[in-house]
Amino acid sequence: MRKRRLLPVVLYILGLVLLFGWITSMFGGKKDNLSYTQIKELFENAQVKSFVVEEQTIYLELHEPSEKYSGKTDLICELANPEFFRMEMQETFDRQSKSGVLKTYAFRPESGFSAFELIWPLLIVGGVLLLLWFFAMSKLSGGGNPAANFGKARTTLGSNDNVTFADVAGADEEKEELREIVDFLRNPGKFKEIGAKIPHGLLLVGPPGTGKTLLARAVAGEAKVQFLSISGSDFVELYVGVGASRVRDLFEQAKKVAPAIVFIDEIDAVGRKRGSGLGGGHDEKEQTLNQLLVEMDGFTRNEGVIVLAATNRPDILDPALLRPGRFDRQIHVGAPDVKGREEILKVHAKGKRLDESVDLRLVARSTVGFTGADLSNLMNEAAIRAACDNRKLLTMEDLNEAMMKIMAGPEKRSRVRQRKDLKETAIHEAGHAIAMYHLPTQDPVLQITIIPRGQSLGATWHVPRDDSFNPTRNQMYEEIVGLLGGRVAEALFLGDISVGASNDIDRATKLARDMVARFGMCEELGTVSYLDGGEVFIGRDYQTTKGYSEKVAATIDDQVKLLVDKAYAQCAQILKDNEDKVMAVTDFLLEHETMTGAQFADCMEGREIGEATKVSLFESHKEDE
Ligand code: ADP
Ligand code: MG
Ligand code: ZN
Repeated sequence: MRKRRLLPVVLYILGLVLLFGWITSMFGGKKDNLSYTQIKELFENAQVKSFVVEEQTIYLELHEPSEKYSGKTDLICELANPEFFRMEMQETFDRQSKSGVLKTYAFRPESGFSAFELIWPLLIVGGVLLLLWFFAMSKLSGGGNPAANFGKARTTLGSNDNVTFADVAGADEEKEELREIVDFLRNPGKFKEIGAKIPHGLLLVGPPGTGKTLLARAVAGEAKVQFLSISGSDFVELYVGVGASRVRDLFEQAKKVAPAIVFIDEIDAVGRKRGSGLGGGHDEKEQTLNQLLVEMDGFTRNEGVIVLAATNRPDILDPALLRPGRFDRQIHVGAPDVKGREEILKVHAKGKRLDESVDLRLVARSTVGFTGADLSNLMNEAAIRAACDNRKLLTMEDLNEAMMKIMAGPEKRSRVRQRKDLKETAIHEAGHAIAMYHLPTQDPVLQITIIPRGQSLGATWHVPRDDSFNPTRNQMYEEIVGLLGGRVAEALFLGDISVGASNDIDRATKLARDMVARFGMCEELGTVSYLDGGEVFIGRDYQTTKGYSEKVAATIDDQVKLLVDKAYAQCAQILKDNEDKVMAVTDFLLEHETMTGAQFADCMEGREIGEATKVSLFESHKEDE
């Protein structure tokens, strides 16, 4: 198919060559038959601008078109004896070139020159053809051509990257469960003898960044077996049938190199429930999934191939995948706890030189909800910061800055802001801070700033103290009050409201909705959950009908609104009672841009506002030690 496309190109080029040859022969072949006397005459009349003698031929260029020779400036004619011509005319040439009449002249006795002149177009054309040929060949042999590798699984043989359980910090239970698999891969005979059956499909389930991929690689590393990995999204190609043949190929390879681990990352991309999804293209996925099921059933246990898969969406997997004999065991990989976080930080601190000030335990306490990937990112950002400052040691300050950057994006001091915008932002943030200050369940304010970071114009920081995220009704309600602080302050003290609060309002509404319809925290509706998960996917849930009546739906909406209204009223009361403080904080922010937690406390408790000490996100966690 490619060759056919090449043919017209070749013909085209051949045509060009012929044309070129014809044109040159036209010019080169036709000579003007001047006699020797006539040529001499041209020189004597000082009509010649330049000339070249090549072998027997003389190429003449005249100053002006000569009527005598049909109005031409370029003449070509034959010299019977060039050597004689040269000797006889040398004096004239010298004189005329001195006086500037004859610009250039040359005698070229070498015959090679003209031959070369004929050959060079051929050389170029040949070169082009050769290049084209190489290009086509390299494409056909697979270099840049996806078609050549269509059916091949894009696997990685990972036997030589030595990730072991030591590189996976914290995940003790997960490792314990996987140790069984390692044991089996190392010594399958032992299991065969006693008749024990090892599951040959394991599903690692957990949110992104929790180390699922890392764990799978560690299993292979521990067992010292081949690791064939493929990502679910690799299966999903434009071309029908490719996914299925990739699966086949993957398992063929695995059986060849057994004992081995086949790891299918992001299996949800291919293992979605069949017959779901919007739009076309799912036939292809179904084929791939079917092939996967066939392959998993197709080899017996103890063959030495274990299939691991990872997903963060086990709920959307096709149930057939989870049946016995397939992925019948699930291992949940969760976000690490304090101890786990500290260990992960230690792993990623390896190879980095830490200043004495760095207390990884303190960092671990302040990073509630961070995954392994987040923590790795945190250490890396901090190290980058230290390197940018040409420091050899990484300090607590670096970690602090890195954490702020991760939580909200880098500071954008350069963004030009108008005074009016700044005032709006300052009042908004002051509203949040003062409302939160008066809410007993809310965390103390750590820092207020009107320096934009990432998407936000300003921010009021408070870091959650607690690992156990099990908020009470009162806590959730007061969180709503605090979230509304920005908007309420705008309404009360600016007389107008801005879109700056839209994110706050989204979050407050979602919280209120959860309280009412999900956590059974509303008397009107009783202890009943009407929402599960809350999210709607394109796919399985697309057609799910609400599991409750229109009447209940209306009540939910009413109750959500009531709850938010109540929170709004309470917030407004707090801010009205503390108008002087709101103004004080606003003025301070407009002057200094940033207010630390300590300065805020000074202001609220009527003390003189102290000097800013560098805010540390880790500060509030210190006192619990
Ligand atoms: P997932 O596959 O669950 O999305 P990954 O295994 O790709 O997560 O983890 C991303 C990165 O996060 C890893 O390369 C590693 O640097 C880091 N990481 C995650 N969990 C851990 C852990 N338990 N110990 C050490 N590093 C971890
Ligand atoms: Mg992964
Ligand atoms: Zn806000």
